Amino acid sequence: MHGEVVSATRLTPSMVRVVLGGEGLTGFAMPEGDPTDTYVNLAFPPAGASYGPVFDPKALRDLPREDQPLRRRYTVRSWDAASGELTIDFVVHGDAGVAGPWAAAASPGDVLVFQGPSGGYRPRPDAERYLMVGDESALPAIAASVEVVPAGRPLTVLLVCDGPEHELALTTDADLDVRWLHRSADGAGTELVDALREVDLPAGADVCTFVHGEAEEIRAIRKHLLTEVGMGRADMSCSPYWRRTMDDEAWRAVKKDFVAAMEQDA
Ligand SMILES: Cc1cc2nc3c(=O)[nH]c(=O)nc-3n(C[C@H](O)[C@H](O)[C@H](O)COP(=O)(O)OP(=O)(O)OC[C@H]3O[C@@H](n4cnc5c(N)ncnc54)[C@H](O)[C@@H]3O)c2cc1C
Repeated sequence: MHGEVVSATRLTPSMVRVVLGGEGLTGFAMPEGDPTDTYVNLAFPPAGASYGPVFDPKALRDLPREDQPLRRRYTVRSWDAASGELTIDFVVHGDAGVAGPWAAAASPGDVLVFQGPSGGYRPRPDAERYLMVGDESALPAIAASVEVVPAGRPLTVLLVCDGPEHELALTTDADLDVRWLHRSADGAGTELVDALREVDLPAGADVCTFVHGEAEEIRAIRKHLLTEVGMGRADMSCSPYWRRTMDDEAWRAVKKDFVAAMEQDA
């Protein structure tokens, strides 16, 4: 499946919204249950590839590794079935990488190939309260999730970013308490877990929780919620989306072991 860029808009200094459209999206449908963390697997041809811009990633599996498309996973921020438009919000994190730089340079007519979608989380409508924690990479899923939390329900959102100009408005009918945290210069990455310690989460409360973002930060948050707050695993959607100092190829190579070690934390 592929989309053609209809528009690419800077939402903040570090976020570009790409809207895809065109015939290549014919047949696209959200997974059953319309998860708000629905994602697609993007496929970027390496420099000098002998194929593209439109290709079938499955048909390229026998190519040498260096010729295969580079895979990156991104959240579907929204899918408009009526107009046939798919929106993805990309974090632009400097010149390193494939997907971020692609989005920073995207212009109408550019082609983006992908596989999917898949997804698993949607705020369940009967929870007493909701907790969502993440960084800019999780912001598209969190922004989509807050939109469907029932009206008036307590919803706490903790988000970390580089500064006030990187914040984005959230739209929800819930009783929203959003706290934007700004990264400290020491790069310790403890802003989210430190702020979470200040959130009043009564033991035994029925909290529908979504926690995603940088691997080490997510691991610390998960451990805090399970061991110190006493939250149950079953009601927590929690996964590391990316890892500082590693590109996605390096991260995917160690992710399974990292997640297994994370599971041992609690
Ligand atoms: C299910 C899922 C959904 C996701 N949804 C989104 C989404 O909607 N939007 C989004 O922007 N990302 C999303 N991500 C994260 C995204 O896939 C990774 O950040 C990916 O590594 C970016 O690829 P890249 O080619 O830009 O950088 P890479 O080539 O993977 O990495 C290059 C360098 O940039 C660093 N880096 C990677 N990501 C970030 C970041 N977010 N901030 C700062 N430094 C970074 C790496 O550590 C590395 O040093 C999602 C991940 C998953 C698993």
